[in-house]
Amino acid sequence: ASATTTAATSPAQYPTSHDQVSQPIDTTNFLDNQFVPSKATQWIDLHDPATNNLVTRVPQSTDEELKAAVDSAEKAFPAWKATSLLARQQIMFKYVALIREHWDRLAASITLEQGKTFADAKGDVLRGLQVAETACGITTQMQGEVLEVAKDMETRSYREPLGIIAAICPFNFPAMIPLWTIPVATVTGNTCIIKPSERDPGAAMILAELAEKAGFPPGVINIIHGSAKTVDFIIDEPRIKAISFVGSNKAGEYIFARGSAQGKRVQANLGAKNHAAVLPDCNKNQALNAISGAAFGAAGQRCMALSTLVFVGETKDWAPEIAERAKALSMNGGFEPGADLGPVISPQAKKRIEDIIGTAEKEGATIVLDGRGQKPEKYPNGNWVGPTIIANVTKDMTCYKEEIFGPVLVCLNVPTLDEALELINENEYGNGTAIFTSSGATALKFQKEIEAGQVGINVPIPVPLPMFSFTGNKKSVAGGGANTFYGKPGLQFYTQQKTVTSFWRSEDAVSTRAKVDMPTQS
Ligand code: NAD
Repeated sequence: ASATTTAATSPAQYPTSHDQVSQPIDTTNFLDNQFVPSKATQWIDLHDPATNNLVTRVPQSTDEELKAAVDSAEKAFPAWKATSLLARQQIMFKYVALIREHWDRLAASITLEQGKTFADAKGDVLRGLQVAETACGITTQMQGEVLEVAKDMETRSYREPLGIIAAICPFNFPAMIPLWTIPVATVTGNTCIIKPSERDPGAAMILAELAEKAGFPPGVINIIHGSAKTVDFIIDEPRIKAISFVGSNKAGEYIFARGSAQGKRVQANLGAKNHAAVLPDCNKNQALNAISGAAFGAAGQRCMALSTLVFVGETKDWAPEIAERAKALSMNGGFEPGADLGPVISPQAKKRIEDIIGTAEKEGATIVLDGRGQKPEKYPNGNWVGPTIIANVTKDMTCYKEEIFGPVLVCLNVPTLDEALELINENEYGNGTAIFTSSGATALKFQKEIEAGQVGINVPIPVPLPMFSFTGNKKSVAGGGANTFYGKPGLQFYTQQKTVTSFWRSEDAVSTRAKVDMPTQS
């Protein structure tokens, strides 16, 4: 079976419930602004995580299709590079307006394929849209620098596009993460190839449809599908100049090493274990609400989810109060009104998360709230894990050492702030962290001494807005975090600097002898 696209074509067609799709339509590639059915022989079944009904089949794009995407992006590049900055900006304005217009439709696709609640899916789209909105300021961002070195000599720097960029995306933010690449890469004059997660490519397909409507010429944005085979193609294709990867350490460290060895630019955001230190002087109610929301929202499947709590001093007795708040959350199908968290992505993820909870029990931790075996009545076949709180955890336990990526909060106890700092700094990941306190001096000490890339002070998920950059640290980024996503470093990643020094002397040269010593312009 094959047809045009997973993207519904009118608002009436987008899903508003988890009802079984009567005739699942195969996901297509997007090449030269066309939805092209794949000739794949291997297909990946995509199931609604709330029901495990089949939603679509995602192709393992063929070698010819992968090559066709690169041919298309290569062909489009010279004219796109030569398109005036203001014309590219106009297309971006239209793109931004269209994404806002199709916001609900994009979110519905995410809820159906990824499982997160509709309200949360709208946030996924909005965080990506904000990157696109900021990219509209390209006319200022692309300005170079100029220095008059002498009265007849000047040096200028320009930013030029690299050529073809590829983005390899994870399952947990099907709209936001493609939108970390598409706006910044294209507005700066590159063409790009997006490989969405094979587990939820629907939002990326809608983004492609909107890109065509906004006026992006054929080939500027292409979409191909598949898993490791497609990734290897991207790494090895010499015409692709840069790779933007977001996902797990296993895949990302491999892509960074092999891509860098081929001379490509690679930016790679990886896994996390985000800790929050809770101090006795914090605003307790605000902190406990913030912690429950950040631990269990999106079923804990955010790279900035707050998965690890460090109770300082007497706050160790607060776990039951967090459990009360967690119990009040509604786990349900993402389209259901009032749903707070949906299912996890797959039956395998559910099993892995439950197994880790089992290890905590065996290793001597206290299960304060156990989400295993819970399910909403209406969706008995989904991948459900309810909010889980594990207390009295120690550093050697499996539940502390592994990224759980589910609705599980692990809690450790330390007597002082210094020990909290030491514990968090010792952890190999350094994506985000937070402190809850009402003391400015304590917050400042934490801010200065903590080794994590994104710090929240009474803010549980401190994801930087697009005018800043997503600044993970330690094992949460490959390559030491030199190439971060969006903001000024994002612009830097997608552009090559060129520096031109020119000399225009009005008088004729007097000497006829060539100078051979090192020019120093002094
Ligand atoms: P994943 O690594 O399994 O998949 C990400 C992408 O890599 C997919 O497109 C997939 O097809 C590809 N891939 C998977 N295995 C591969 C392999 N062996 N070889 C080559 N390519 C491979 O990640 P995921 O499960 O989709 O996403 C969850 C992970 O992403 C978590 O670890 C989470 O912390 C991380 N994440 C990090 C950030 C961040 O900004 N730091 C943001 C979102 C997600």
